[in-house]
Amino acid sequence: MATSAIEHRSALIIGAGPAGSAAAQRLAEGGIDVLVIEKRHIIGNPAQCGECIPEWGEVIGAFPKAAKEEWLRNYFIFPERIKLHPLKWMRIFSPSGKSWKMPLDAFAAHRLQFDGLLADRAMNAGAEIRVDTALTNIITNRKDGKDLYVTNNGKITADVIIDASGSLAHVARLRGGHQGEDQVPTIYAQVSGVIPESFDIFLGAIAPMGYAWIIPKGEGFANVGIGVKAGAMKGVLKEHLKKLCDELNLTIHSWGGGWIPMGGPVKNLVKDNVLAVGDAGGLVMPSNGGGISQAIMSGFYAGETIIQHFNSGMELQNYHRITMNVMGKSLKTSLRTKKIAYLILRWNWSAELAMRFLGPIGGIRRAVECKKSVWII
Ligand SMILES: Cc1cc2nc3c(=O)[nH]c(=O)nc-3n(C[C@H](O)[C@H](O)[C@H](O)COP(=O)(O)OP(=O)(O)OC[C@H]3O[C@@H](n4cnc5c(N)ncnc54)[C@H](O)[C@@H]3O)c2cc1C
Repeated sequence: MATSAIEHRSALIIGAGPAGSAAAQRLAEGGIDVLVIEKRHIIGNPAQCGECIPEWGEVIGAFPKAAKEEWLRNYFIFPERIKLHPLKWMRIFSPSGKSWKMPLDAFAAHRLQFDGLLADRAMNAGAEIRVDTALTNIITNRKDGKDLYVTNNGKITADVIIDASGSLAHVARLRGGHQGEDQVPTIYAQVSGVIPESFDIFLGAIAPMGYAWIIPKGEGFANVGIGVKAGAMKGVLKEHLKKLCDELNLTIHSWGGGWIPMGGPVKNLVKDNVLAVGDAGGLVMPSNGGGISQAIMSGFYAGETIIQHFNSGMELQNYHRITMNVMGKSLKTSLRTKKIAYLILRWNWSAELAMRFLGPIGGIRRAVECKKSVWII
């Protein structure tokens, strides 16, 4: 219910995606008063995702320094009921149809169920989540020094804010900062038909400077999508995906899409009393667009830092340092891989040539795993 009174909270989180819910849970467990506002009516719906969820093995494969975090290890134990299909393999296809297979430790899920699960965990820990509540404005430079967070459902001030609003980073934008760079447009469809067992990726002119994917969701269903650098593909992305689905004889049941911030982490994840987590902090792997594990990890580190900030005066800036210590190297390598991919994945001939050269020497696998390609110093 909208009210003119200003509500004050210890911690305010904008967005109940994986990053926001993980942060909220950690904060509530640490005894911090925390409110999450979420603009959607139903958390996780509509999905903006290929819905490939990493298991713990995949997370620590990419970010080995996270292996010591018991809390995260436990967080990544998900109930079997939300796992629609195990994703044990990924195949990367060149334009001619040659493929390279590599192991994967992930599963397919409905984000509606996955995000709902994470939100439930946060609420069970004591966090308050308020849906149908969108941040619409932020009033800065007020007399009491506290920024005013204006929503369609009341006005809020808070000691610490977490921007978990996703790729468009609403808090940073409304405070006059800038959101993540290289926002990549994506479109996907939920389809049925003859579906492969593995997570398949297609490179080349089918998705110039990007890739097309098929992620099996079990029982003849899949999430099929295309993501390309903005402007790299002529025409309407949806039409290209429709053509691909027609060629593969797949029946489309629904559409979705969104933006993926592929420009790497924002310069500083902390600005004043605002901590940016997940996509809002540009923490997606630039070379493959995966962001769920980094969203959860950054939510955890933000929560940890804020707890210690309240309890023992730890600087909020520590959050940036810890997060970059754990993720910085892999994200940097991934960003470099993406820049090279932009050069070679524009045309079929260049994609084919590069993949035929890199495939046999393990370069494709290393690029996917965000480790240095063998030929990158
Ligand atoms: C098409 C597509 C496919 C993808 N596929 C994968 C994949 O298969 N695997 C993977 O790991 N990653 C994938 N990603 C990336 C992944 O979806 C994100 O990295 C992840 O969701 C980031 O989590 P988050 O919590 O930071 O943000 P989000 O999940 O985007 O959550 C942000 C939340 O904030 C809310 N919000 C936004 N603005 C406001 C506001 N003004 N007020 C209140 N609430 C607000 C939103 O409604 C949303 O619930 C994909 C992304 C896209 C677009």
